[in-house]
Amino acid sequence: MIHKRFIPLCAALLMALTAASARASDGRLDVVVSIKPIHALVAGVMQGVGTPHLLLNDQQSPHHFALKPSQARLLQQAELVFWVDPSLETPMPGLLASLAPHAIDIRFMADQDLVRYQNKISDDSDDDHEGHDDHEGHEDHDGHEDHEGHGRGHMVNPHIWLDLENARRMVWSIAATLSAVDPQHAGAYASNAAKLDKRLVDLHEVAKRQFASIQRNKFIVQHDAFIYIERQFKLPRGLVIARDHDTPPGTAHLQHLRDLVAAGVVSCIFDEPQGAGHQIDIVAGTSFVRRATLDAVGVGLPAGPDLYFDMMRANYAAFADCLAGTH
Ligand SMILES: [Zn+2]
Repeated sequence: MIHKRFIPLCAALLMALTAASARASDGRLDVVVSIKPIHALVAGVMQGVGTPHLLLNDQQSPHHFALKPSQARLLQQAELVFWVDPSLETPMPGLLASLAPHAIDIRFMADQDLVRYQNKISDDSDDDHEGHDDHEGHEDHDGHEDHEGHGRGHMVNPHIWLDLENARRMVWSIAATLSAVDPQHAGAYASNAAKLDKRLVDLHEVAKRQFASIQRNKFIVQHDAFIYIERQFKLPRGLVIARDHDTPPGTAHLQHLRDLVAAGVVSCIFDEPQGAGHQIDIVAGTSFVRRATLDAVGVGLPAGPDLYFDMMRANYAAFADCLAGTH
């Protein structure tokens, strides 16, 4: 299905060109972005030209949200909608069809050239053999994952923006789409994209140095969002408390993790701002295992172009500190 790879962007650009001629005469482009980290990238590309709307707030889970009337209105007025995939923002296909049938929507997971990893296959006994449970997650350029979203055990992990190379690729695709819809600002979009690209490359360099010396100790994460960071910086695979967002972990799984912590083989437990603290407490037990926070969506951070960078720096620092044992 190699030909599929080129379709999403090309189709979007064609639609965009059609839409460009139909655009309102005030010249303002109505752009809506589903979640904060992606909103930050779009806001960065649009800097000096306009400000994209953020669809979901910190209290709303991307997986099962209901829109308030003001949010529904954002979709109704949108010309362009950026989002990730139904495996992340589950209600989006239905909402796009009913509220924004006229809008161009860019689903980033349609880009087959993004780095993508498989979700863990549910099996507690796999926990100790980190790494071999996700088919080693190398960038799948062979396109054999295009049945993503169906089939147990072959779901693509949707937290793609946590990989810096993906973020760079997304920035350029955002700029290409915006330029097609709004060609008079193409120069600004391109130069903003170049600046963002440079910031992402610099961030990668700094993070590489940060991760170079840390110990590759075992750690536990609240949910399996951080494989994109683990793989990018060659960390061990995190042991996961909740395998997917919607299913709470079973008692046996929690006990298994708790035993590992009690045995002293886990250096750090990461919670999340919206995570279930009681599960972390069960797993931590009475041990003095270190704890820190990871955040995949920028909870509590002000939305805007810097959010992506602030969020990623905080995540890298959490990994580096907690695994190095400096607190
Ligand atoms: Zn998630």
